[in-house]
Amino acid sequence: MSRLLCQVCGTDTLEQDPERQLFVLKDVGQPVGEGELTTAAPVCPPCALIAVKHCPHLQKHVAAWVERPMSWGVAGILYDQRTLLPVPGDDLVKVSYDDPAIRWILATRQVLSLQGCTAVDVSDFNATVVAR
Ligand SMILES: [Zn+2]
Repeated sequence: MSRLLCQVCGTDTLEQDPERQLFVLKDVGQPVGEGELTTAAPVCPPCALIAVKHCPHLQKHVAAWVERPMSWGVAGILYDQRTLLPVPGDDLVKVSYDDPAIRWILATRQVLSLQGCTAVDVSDFNATVVAR
């Protein structure tokens, strides 16, 4: 994640294209928004096609070219500082690096804030893009 390697094949996406990285996210009813937080690493275009075809979480997806994927914080299990018990919830809690709660989270993932987003339709990638 911190080196922006493709989450499918491990290719260095910065080496492929230093200007922008491709992010494919689960569709939650809206396109990838400016500043959207994600625990998903980028993918390279050929792997995007594979991911949307085979990953159950990406049956419905949105995608964007992102110019500045900024390190924002972590996601994990948040603990209550008074009870020392995990805060109930189904999802991992996202906490920014400048939030005092960062001291009370057992982090499992890095969180990026996606800046400079341009929506893209993965199905538009053709053999030319894939062959690059
Ligand atoms: Zn890849």
